[in-house]
Amino acid sequence: MERLDPWGTGLPEDYSRLMQEFGIRPLEELLPKIPDPLHLMRRGVIFGHRDFERVLERMVGNGRYAVMTGLMPSGKMHLGHKMVVDQLVWYQRKGGEIFLCIADMEAFSARGIPYEKGREIAFEEYLLNCEALGLELERCRVYFQSRSQEVQGLAYSLARKVNFSEVRAIYGFSGETHLSHLYYPMIDVADILHPQLEKFGGPRPTVVPVGVDQDPHLRLARDVAAKFSEEYGFLPPSSTYHRLMRDLFGGKMSSSRPDSALFLTDPPEVWERKIWDALTGGRPTAREQREKGGEPSKCLVYELCMYHFMPEDKELLELKERCEKGEIICGECKEGMVERAKDFLRELEERRKEVRSKVERLLHEIYPTF
Ligand code: SF4
Repeated sequence: MERLDPWGTGLPEDYSRLMQEFGIRPLEELLPKIPDPLHLMRRGVIFGHRDFERVLERMVGNGRYAVMTGLMPSGKMHLGHKMVVDQLVWYQRKGGEIFLCIADMEAFSARGIPYEKGREIAFEEYLLNCEALGLELERCRVYFQSRSQEVQGLAYSLARKVNFSEVRAIYGFSGETHLSHLYYPMIDVADILHPQLEKFGGPRPTVVPVGVDQDPHLRLARDVAAKFSEEYGFLPPSSTYHRLMRDLFGGKMSSSRPDSALFLTDPPEVWERKIWDALTGGRPTAREQREKGGEPSKCLVYELCMYHFMPEDKELLELKERCEKGEIICGECKEGMVERAKDFLRELEERRKEVRSKVERLLHEIYPTF
């Protein structure tokens, strides 16, 4: 049985097997009902869900629903994180009430990042980029775990019905796991369920869009929601699952390997160098590639187009076909990609400058000592 580890460094090998093992439903079955689906949904990057019907019903009927996610301020924001923000922007436009948690307690327990440092990273990397990417933070509930008495209090209350065997079975904790890490899943469960407290709008459908490695938190939150359904009226949270974006050499994208990931605050020339070094699905020689064609499914440059830089499906399909037929070779393809990526980065930097004072004000409100 494959174990999903929210703090691990590996990539899942077989997404279909994961879906079977953990009872994740294919999103494809709901796709025709989703209004104007996001490119990540249309392309199967967001591939699975639990109980998304409940949220969809509200979305289509203009009813209330919440969207909950967290960003851990432990390093620089990369394109894997952008994928989550793209989803939040989409939900915000579809009427979802966005709850954005800055998971500084997680950064502390799992990575040893002090709260003060976490706050700085959250501002410079995450909040600025979120707003610059189109998320209207003033219309979200943004909070820091370490400053939220509601979340911490709820975690403590909910913990009385969760025992050690349960968390060990889900997370694989060992005798070496320190207690703050051991307790952390309860904070995460409280993050997921707190939008349904009366103070934050009461029980209603809530979707948590996550990478599939975060599913353990969802399974625990759903179990806990069921145990407390009478006391708090919780509905089990819904979730969607996206594939984990690979880094430029095919591993799991991580802030701790700077040369393998594209960070949103990198200078454009750094992206240029990194993209030129990226693994492709090309053949050893140009001649062989023209004869046999390339393999886009193995190519990290193609992945960048699919996840981020080619919003039009028609254009992406054309690239795939030209690559497979050997009509384009990797050098030429990378050149085009580099230009697109650098344009994106320059615009993002401009946007960050424009929104800086607005985000600073917001941070003062939610974290007055900043
Ligand atoms: Fe990847 Fe482009 Fe090369 Fe095809 S031609 S393998 S898409 S870099």
